[in-house]
Amino acid sequence: MNDTTATFSPHAVLKRYFGYDAFREHQQDVIETILAGKDAFVLMPTGSGKSLCYQIPAIMRSGVGVVISPLIALMQNQVSALRQNGVKAAFLNSGLSPGEAETVSRQVAAGEIDLLYVAPERLLMDRFQAWMRRLPVALFAIDEAHCVSQWGHDFRPEYLRILEVTARFPHVPRIALTATADAVTRRDILEKLHLNHARQFSASFDRPNIRYTVSVKTNGKKQVHDFIRAGHAGHAGIVYVRTRARCDQIAAWLRDRHINALPYHAGLPPEIRALHQQQFLREDGIVMVATIAFGMGIDKPDVRFVAHLDLPASMEAYYQETGRAGRDGRDAEAWMLYSLADVVSMRKMLERSEGGEDIKRIRRQKLEALLGYSETVSCRRTALLGYFGEPYPGPCNCCDTCSRPPDTWDGTVAVQKALSCVYRTGQRFGAGHLIDVLCGDLTERVAQLGHERIKTFGVGTELSKAQWRSVFRQMLAAGLLTVDMGQIAGFRLTAESRPVLKGEKNIRLRKDPPAIRPLARKASTSRPDAEQGLKTNGTGDLFEKLRRLRLDIAQKAGLPPYVVFHDKTLQELALARPGNRFELLQIPGVGDRKADRYGQQFLDLINADEHTE
Ligand code: ADP
Ligand code: ZN
Repeated sequence: MNDTTATFSPHAVLKRYFGYDAFREHQQDVIETILAGKDAFVLMPTGSGKSLCYQIPAIMRSGVGVVISPLIALMQNQVSALRQNGVKAAFLNSGLSPGEAETVSRQVAAGEIDLLYVAPERLLMDRFQAWMRRLPVALFAIDEAHCVSQWGHDFRPEYLRILEVTARFPHVPRIALTATADAVTRRDILEKLHLNHARQFSASFDRPNIRYTVSVKTNGKKQVHDFIRAGHAGHAGIVYVRTRARCDQIAAWLRDRHINALPYHAGLPPEIRALHQQQFLREDGIVMVATIAFGMGIDKPDVRFVAHLDLPASMEAYYQETGRAGRDGRDAEAWMLYSLADVVSMRKMLERSEGGEDIKRIRRQKLEALLGYSETVSCRRTALLGYFGEPYPGPCNCCDTCSRPPDTWDGTVAVQKALSCVYRTGQRFGAGHLIDVLCGDLTERVAQLGHERIKTFGVGTELSKAQWRSVFRQMLAAGLLTVDMGQIAGFRLTAESRPVLKGEKNIRLRKDPPAIRPLARKASTSRPDAEQGLKTNGTGDLFEKLRRLRLDIAQKAGLPPYVVFHDKTLQELALARPGNRFELLQIPGVGDRKADRYGQQFLDLINADEHTE
């Protein structure tokens, strides 16, 4: 802290450094808790503004705020973004040369740093601790706190030892933050970090600016291409795929079609990975085609879409991965494809995986949940939040099922025929062969096995083969069938199948969407957005010019563009067209430092644009 900030209120610090007028939900309460020297546990979704909750108290309290973060690769960006805002921030990690580290240590010791980012490995070093004990520490922020839990998706053993260190500073407040949605992990974090007494702040896990869409995969490559072309040309986005090989293929395929795509997976040399990540962060409009090796802590705010070309590992993974879209609060899309083949291969992988029957049962339930979500006929948001125990009445009007409620039909008879076909063929076959039998298709294989003689041969000609595939997929999702993991990997009946076969239970199935077309964007009336203003006021040109200026400044400074200004700030600039510094400071995202540093260039551009119109 410096003496001048001591007299500022949290509110004034928010305006002066970050250029915002008002706190979001919980921010002020969290900040006041820390300022009062108490511990806090913050559970808020990605993009909700958790960072300010420790940054502002670190600026205001005397001493240095120590931020423990697992993401060495991102520290530099976080710190440069803070410095752009005039915050005295630094990081210490293995990427620094001894000389650089020495400089940072000296600055911290001289009281010149308000926020110091360190990796847990560094925090645990004896030398570091000895050094730290001589300093006034303002607070400890434990970012990505779910890393302390084995139940979470990013367990880091070093996180378990953070407590050893912070316990030596009993009077320093601690704040743990996470966007992890599931209850088991949350409880585990509180326990492992001894935070049961801490004040807890939790916000809804809804991400209202994300539109959710799930479609059946017919031709994945083409579908994702059409999706990007139709609604996201020139946007930054992430396309998740399951394997490294697919990652390379899809990226190349999109590049051939003039989409600026790059691959990212663990099989690439580290320097290529680092380069691609850097490009994604620093250039506008890159599409990263990635395996799950990419993403943890990607805090790029302007990712406009996350597309799953293959199913994610679980609902938790889906929530985390899609959560990387739209951190800036502007409209974003979570778009996913799924197919029968995906479901079958995930089942196989699961059954072959290590671990006892109990673990497999949990994994099976998790997979069921994901399938249930994909096949749901009601609001996706309701299903997603429901999975995490948060009631959401819906409809949200911002998902595919709300926008185009799927038609359903009485599938009881079809399901009975399918089940009976599975049974009569000996519970050994996959969908392809079963559908041939149902449709009365006398293939070589059918003839070889003599399956044209069984009772269900040709009883299903009322449906097309594509429709039958949909029936099988939904049966699998509903647990009416399971995949046998013997050598043949065919479908088997389950306990759920029986009541249906016996006519005791009716089944409604969803009709597949007639064609997989990108959703027409409905401008939501509930969330007025600068985007709408842009369209009606015809400021699109100015916005583009501002974007180019931003890119130019960013490239000269070697920074990601969003560190200069967020898209949202550019949009507000294009709308409000400030004419002087005073008006400029009214724009959200423009604090004192940025107004000094870039203000004139943006004002000049806006002024010049005025005169060319
Ligand atoms: P999280 O860490 O929760 O994912 P961040 O701290 O990165 O979220 O904040 C997400 C975005 O919201 C950032 O661009 C940040 O500048 C912005 N933001 C945070 N607090 C406010 C606020 N009070 N008003 C406006 N924007 C805010
Ligand atoms: Zn909905």
